[in-house]
Amino acid sequence: MSTLFEKIIAREIPADIVYEDDICICFKDIEPQAPTHLLLVPKKVITGIGLAQAQDAQILGHLMVTIPTIAQQQGFASDGFRVTINHGSDGGQTVDHLHLHLLAGRSLTWPPG
Ligand code: AMP
Repeated sequence: MSTLFEKIIAREIPADIVYEDDICICFKDIEPQAPTHLLLVPKKVITGIGLAQAQDAQILGHLMVTIPTIAQQQGFASDGFRVTINHGSDGGQTVDHLHLHLLAGRSLTWPPG
């Protein structure tokens, strides 16, 4: 069975996509927690960051180096932003397909809730 994010990648369900390449896709979170709230998702399903394997290193590195490109394109590079990965129930993960939350557009508090 496909994950929710695989369905977005396959255009089976709609999303507001802001960036895509061969390895990953980035779209607006449907329930934004900041003025800008994007999800950066690898096209290969990795269930969660706590289950990543050595063979995923290139994909994970690609996600990281794609962040500044998206930040520039979306106009939040200079003001700053937060990157969050939730894992498992205590981490607040609800979709079992690895995704990076990119949060921007307001001053974010610490510690997180
Ligand atoms: P997490 O709770 O870390 O697993 O994050 C899952 C995120 O997916 C949440 O922030 C949801 O708001 C978001 N989400 C759920 N369904 C959709 C959707 N159809 N399109 C965009 N974002 C979604």
